[in-house]
Amino acid sequence: MSFWPTVAVATPAHGGLAQTLSYRSESPLAPGSLVRVPLGSRELLGVVWTCPDTPPDDLDPALARPVSGVLLGLDPLNERWRQLVQFAARYYQRSLGEVAMGALPPALRDLDNTQLQRRLQRLAKGQTAGNGSSLAPGSAHTPQASEEQAQALAALAQADRPVLLFGATGSGKTEVYLRATEQALAADPGAQVLVMVPEINLTPQLEARFRDRFESAFGAGALVCLHSGMTPPQRLQAWLAAHAGRARIVLGTRMAVFASLPGLRLIVVDEEHDPSYKSQEGARYSARDLAVYRARLESEGVVAPAETGSPSPPAAARCQVLLGSATPSLESWHAAEQGRYLRVDMPGRIGGGSLPRLRLVDMNHQPKGALLAPPLLAAMQERIGRGEQCLVLLNRRGYAPVLSCGACDWKSSCPHCSAYRVFHKIDRTLRCHHCGFTQRVPRACPDCGNLDIAPIGRGTEQLEEQLVALLADVRRPDGSPVRVARMDADTTRAKGSLEAQLDALHAGEVDVLVGTQMVAKGHDFRRITLVASVNADAALFASDHRAPERLFALLMQAAGRAGRDARHSGASEMWVQTWHPQHLLFNALARHDYPGFAAAQLADREAAAMPPFGFQALLRADARTQQAAQAFLNGAAAAAQGLPGSERVTLYPAVPLNIQRVANVERAQLLIESDSRPALQRFLAAWQAVLLEARSLPEARGLIRFAVDVDPLTV
Ligand code: ADP
Ligand code: ZN
Ligand code: ZN
Repeated sequence: MSFWPTVAVATPAHGGLAQTLSYRSESPLAPGSLVRVPLGSRELLGVVWTCPDTPPDDLDPALARPVSGVLLGLDPLNERWRQLVQFAARYYQRSLGEVAMGALPPALRDLDNTQLQRRLQRLAKGQTAGNGSSLAPGSAHTPQASEEQAQALAALAQADRPVLLFGATGSGKTEVYLRATEQALAADPGAQVLVMVPEINLTPQLEARFRDRFESAFGAGALVCLHSGMTPPQRLQAWLAAHAGRARIVLGTRMAVFASLPGLRLIVVDEEHDPSYKSQEGARYSARDLAVYRARLESEGVVAPAETGSPSPPAAARCQVLLGSATPSLESWHAAEQGRYLRVDMPGRIGGGSLPRLRLVDMNHQPKGALLAPPLLAAMQERIGRGEQCLVLLNRRGYAPVLSCGACDWKSSCPHCSAYRVFHKIDRTLRCHHCGFTQRVPRACPDCGNLDIAPIGRGTEQLEEQLVALLADVRRPDGSPVRVARMDADTTRAKGSLEAQLDALHAGEVDVLVGTQMVAKGHDFRRITLVASVNADAALFASDHRAPERLFALLMQAAGRAGRDARHSGASEMWVQTWHPQHLLFNALARHDYPGFAAAQLADREAAAMPPFGFQALLRADARTQQAAQAFLNGAAAAAQGLPGSERVTLYPAVPLNIQRVANVERAQLLIESDSRPALQRFLAAWQAVLLEARSLPEARGLIRFAVDVDPLTV
């Protein structure tokens, strides 16, 4: 007797291939099994989706090719995992196989059974996991929970919906994650917890705290990481450990939302507002949104069918989701306002310290051309003199964003992009931050030969240089000179350098840290008492409707790095240099009033039918010419009339992207809006076939690729 498994394999997203391919097998294969199947002349890894014993109607049994082999020793990927993948593929408009294969570690693709068995043996031989019995609450590593923490945990234990932990910076959210993890793991010996963070390298502290708390009790293999910085073998081993249930905690970035976790009981999403949870390539999924969906799936999986009348499952068998932030996304905030999420507040800081006081510097009243206003500089000098640390934020790396000739019109444009190349003084290069094109700085203007070419604007490199000069005469309490350091993508590229820099800061070896937004994220700095943002105005007037939300979060998070030690916090300050001190955003910031800010933003969004009140998608196109990109988009829009859902969907004309050309590729997009998520989904699903056809429109010649972005972050 033969079986006819349908298998999800990595097919090109828009290749027009079916969602799964059909094969033949002489024995039944459990759905979720990993198999190798032939496709053309290649052999691919795939996941069995269904395994009927009659061939599907559209398959000629004589032509069906047999499955080449099954990966042995692995439990099939369970039904909840498959449902998650299926949902993500449908919702984000990608092929099932692409999402399924993208969710698996790449090293699995070229593993034969012998290699796999060796890996599984190594896993089994690894340190035997403890059972957590030595996890004694109140042990040396575990602080007494604060009252707010205890209340948050109690609320979580009772919650029947996603929990939004709205905790001030320094309120001790990490301790809540640790204890919630502890509770979930204690519930049963197979329980697993997924902890997601925006960028793992930025938060080595968090990983250390989890290891510290759990490894002695559960064994060294109990916690694994999953992120793109790992080598393929490392990722494979971590994935296998999670899939086999040996890893009890998975700490990872957005990709970890797809980890196979048969015993999943809790998902934590730290800094849930962070844009890096949204993937910007391939399937453009939101890991935060999928986490919420996954928690529901995992819980449904254990709910007994109503008709049997069995009692609801014990609390331990549910999967909870905990989203944490001091500046939640407006989507999550709105969900909590509506009662779909349960909001739990922790307004106080650990130790009773206060949040930093906002000092706005009106740049209209400062000396012309001053990078740092004199009062800010004086405040920094005073702090350093007392042995305290300062953090200066400038969201632009390099020395200057553009070089320009004083005699003619020459500017350091990138020849391949519609953007300027950034001047990096350290190696005297002009570098394009979009395509990477790099050249030595010319000695004279390439157009007119003028020797006087000058930087315009400032980046972190220049800020660092100027701070060193401005603080040259200042002395630390022990009489030694001031030490200024810089932390941005340029100084942290080498492996381990970020950790080294953070260590130096924690050890007090740095007095002033200059950096991009990466210094504002989640760090628990103990001796910083002054944070300054020197140039954030651009975001106040950006056309992107999410810009204010992001700026507010950035400034509030940055402020949150100051005064985390209650002994200093009384005097801690957040300085913001601005030309628009009357802006409402600063008003809310001064009061640390996220709820007020969110209410105002949500009112604006509602009036404009923007998310979360309206629903959006983008169709993006890359092409050799801007005309071709737009012709494809507009052609696809013209052919969309009458499609299911189209009556509730608005299609806007195609427009070039902000940075219209990158690496000689022209980019355009088309916005799709609807007041109904189901209508938008129905429309997008039906539109796929139209998009495939529009590729071959004569005026779209030169189209390179297109992609649909559902719930885009920038429009
Ligand atoms: P958040 O993530 O909310 O900004 P953290 O989790 O980093 O805050 O906690 C801030 C600081 O307070 C950390 O140094 C942490 O070790 C400490 N802390 C947290 N909870 C407690 C507690 N219950 N008792 C003592 N210290 C705590
Ligand atoms: Zn010139
Ligand atoms: Zn470029």
